Amino acid sequence: MYHSADKAKTTRMNALRDRAQICTRCGLWESRTNAVVGSGCLDAEIVLVGEAPGRTEDESGLPFVGRAGKLLDDILGKAGLSRDDVFIMNVVKCRPPNNRRPKKGEVDACERFIAEQLDIIRPRVVAPMGNSSISYFFEKHGLGKAVVGDVHGGEYEIEGGWGVFKLVPLYHPAAAIYNRRLVEELERDMKRLAGLEGP
Ligand code: SF4
Repeated sequence: MYHSADKAKTTRMNALRDRAQICTRCGLWESRTNAVVGSGCLDAEIVLVGEAPGRTEDESGLPFVGRAGKLLDDILGKAGLSRDDVFIMNVVKCRPPNNRRPKKGEVDACERFIAEQLDIIRPRVVAPMGNSSISYFFEKHGLGKAVVGDVHGGEYEIEGGWGVFKLVPLYHPAAAIYNRRLVEELERDMKRLAGLEGP
């Protein structure tokens, strides 16, 4: 699921996963099979943050395993990256009913997990994918309201608890499945993101 050269990071993420699995801080726990905390490299420079687990993710406990995940793998590959090079997670860890968008109160309830995960990984680039994730990061860091069509591919320097990181909004792969133009935009943004130096 995830790996690190630093045993302490793995221990912290395992403890976080165990807490998420029994968390009842918002109503999404009621329809959860698995809390999906994320996968990839805990030493990654790049963290990708989607919206919420879907049905397949809820069943498997892994993020981005459906069609959107396959597209994300392709786009990462074209940028010279693989899932082992990055960490992939969502703003909420439990599946919303009928795959609806997570509500603000649910994102707020799950924020402690997002903040702790970023503190464990300490990335130099954070890429929120799609409007739910972009809204969370923009509002948290005082960047105001934003929609992905206006801000994707931009770079915003943010002071995190562990140092400065770049926030780079992207389209969500699920939005690009039936839209060739969005696939091309996502490929272009991901290639640029893969070449970014940290601040
Ligand atoms: S979505 Fe987050 S806050 Fe809500 S029950 Fe799941 S782990 Fe807890």
